[in-house]
Amino acid sequence: MKVIDPSFVVLDEDFRQGRLPEQIERCGRVCYKSEDRISPDSAGPFIKGIIKRGHESVLEMGQIVTEVVVDSESTMHRFFERIPRFCQVDKLERKRYLLSGNPRVFRDLARGHRDLKVVKAVSKLLSECYPVLFSDLIPSHGWIPQDSIVVRLLTPKEIDQLPIKQLIRHRTLLVHLTVNRAVTHELVRHRIASYLQESQRYCRYGEARFGGEVAFIRPCFFREGSDEYQLWLDAMSYTEKIYLDLLKTSSPQAARTVLPNSCKTEIMVHATLEEWMHILRLRTSKAADPSMREIMLALLPEFARRFPAVFGPIRDDLALGD
Ligand SMILES: Cc1cc2nc3c(=O)[nH]c(=O)nc-3n(C[C@H](O)[C@H](O)[C@H](O)COP(=O)(O)OP(=O)(O)OC[C@H]3O[C@@H](n4cnc5c(N)ncnc54)[C@H](O)[C@@H]3O)c2cc1C
Repeated sequence: MKVIDPSFVVLDEDFRQGRLPEQIERCGRVCYKSEDRISPDSAGPFIKGIIKRGHESVLEMGQIVTEVVVDSESTMHRFFERIPRFCQVDKLERKRYLLSGNPRVFRDLARGHRDLKVVKAVSKLLSECYPVLFSDLIPSHGWIPQDSIVVRLLTPKEIDQLPIKQLIRHRTLLVHLTVNRAVTHELVRHRIASYLQESQRYCRYGEARFGGEVAFIRPCFFREGSDEYQLWLDAMSYTEKIYLDLLKTSSPQAARTVLPNSCKTEIMVHATLEEWMHILRLRTSKAADPSMREIMLALLPEFARRFPAVFGPIRDDLALGD
């Protein structure tokens, strides 16, 4: 059995370098713990398989920000009547809009609202820029060009230079967290975000690639060396033994029924800066679960370093409150 500390990695390099399919593959493979199968050419086949199996939440692990210039305001109003929940739209000036979301948002638009001019124009551009993510949705006659609408993708640099009001709504951050199962259970209650989690149904912790053992997160509640810590260690050790015994005759999804909240898990969280502000305010508060607060207090300075104008005030308020 292994006892480890909670940790996080902010994954922003793929975004900054415009590697959207690669970022999606990196996240998707966390579910199956098959990161060792990533190669320079593996993103395309991986994403095709994901689409074929209908595991489309994997396609939420990236952000696309477009600028749309329309011929008339009524074109955009028709779009507003049907705008999906997870699509962000801001008016920049008359007939000029920012439209953003993850690839799944744009796939749902292309599938369900292809009669709209804005959707036709955006889908045409996206199927040209990211064929692996959008080519299966191209109508048999192709996307008809919309001469009256101009769409372009914003570069990562342009996104980062947006005024703060737009930056927090259109810029996202992706974080890879290694925490216990109680923390992930609480995290996924935040509904305006996307998640992918290591699957205890598929991961067989008895295998050599997991070291043949179960990993647990060190509890922040008990001091190492104390009687309580020893009780916790004994419980984890006994649980691991039963789990490994069950694996001899049962599937991982059956054996996992004995695994406790302290079990280590990995989760990818992808959300707009605005939603992260909400999460961090709630989860760094003294009222939050100490295990959750522990990792969020570690995350906050890193976010504040990257986006001081956005997360600096939350960090400063917290410091004042202490
Ligand atoms: C200290 C603490 C104690 C808690 N205790 C419990 C508990 O005992 N039991 C329990 O079940 N949960 C508990 N929770 C979880 C809590 O109830 C929320 O589910 C969780 O914090 C997610 O946050 P949220 O609902 O503000 O918003 P998110 O899901 O992060 O959404 C962000 C915002 O979007 C809006 N929004 C999103 N979805 C909807 C919707 N469907 N309708 C209307 N507005 C929406 C709201 O304005 C919301 O603030 C606790 C959380 C904390 C921080």
